[in-house]
Amino acid sequence: MKKKLIAGNWKMNGGLAANEALAKALLGGLSVPACNVAVCAPAPYLAQLQVLLANSAIALGAQDVSAHESGAYTGEVSVAMLKEFGVRYAIVGHSERRQYHGETDAAVAAKAQRALAAGITPIVCVGETLAEREAGKTEEVVKRQLAAVIHANGHCISEIVVAYEPVWAIGTGKTASPEQAQQVHAVLRAQLRAASDHADRIAILYGGSMNAANAAQLLAQPDIDGGLIGGASLKAPDFLTIIAAAG
Ligand code: PEP
Repeated sequence: MKKKLIAGNWKMNGGLAANEALAKALLGGLSVPACNVAVCAPAPYLAQLQVLLANSAIALGAQDVSAHESGAYTGEVSVAMLKEFGVRYAIVGHSERRQYHGETDAAVAAKAQRALAAGITPIVCVGETLAEREAGKTEEVVKRQLAAVIHANGHCISEIVVAYEPVWAIGTGKTASPEQAQQVHAVLRAQLRAASDHADRIAILYGGSMNAANAAQLLAQPDIDGGLIGGASLKAPDFLTIIAAAG
């Protein structure tokens, strides 16, 4: 059976002292996890986290990556730079990037491609807004978002991680029910199976107000292979409880 992945998305939170306290609390509370664990930190703190998490069971992730190799792209961070700090995962296409930075499906696909080529696992986020769900467009939206990544990446698709993150559930305290989440995960799994013979090894994470209380039920669904956790990843006891639920 493939191991689940629990990835924390710290978003634009933290600072040198807070990161150190959080990383130490996580490492102190983590024996040998039965699942894979990662934290996706803000770019300026990757160097700090690389040191704090060295030789530990917690892998390092970034929250975004440039689709470009290098050059005149002010503010962007390249895969080569991430590699220098031991980054293993990069979130791409988070709904906050799509919403506030106008990232298109094609841009997200290009970022995933760049990450894969460098040996960084992209955590490709897909998810519908509340209006799209209410209009009955959930499937259409997530399939369109994932199709762009499949189209750009061909057989390499088996190396990605997918995160289903309904936009209406992110940071709102409203979680998709385990049944709602499983329904969409099954759709994504079928789409991946049609694209790759190795689709069953692709982890499909659920994200959207996953917390210590609801994680076990969500993670028990057959096509939920882990979680992408925002708010609850900033509290060590809660994140550790979610990790234990994935064991
Ligand atoms: C996220 O930002 O990826 C996320 C799932 O956030 P939260 O857990 O806070 O809803």
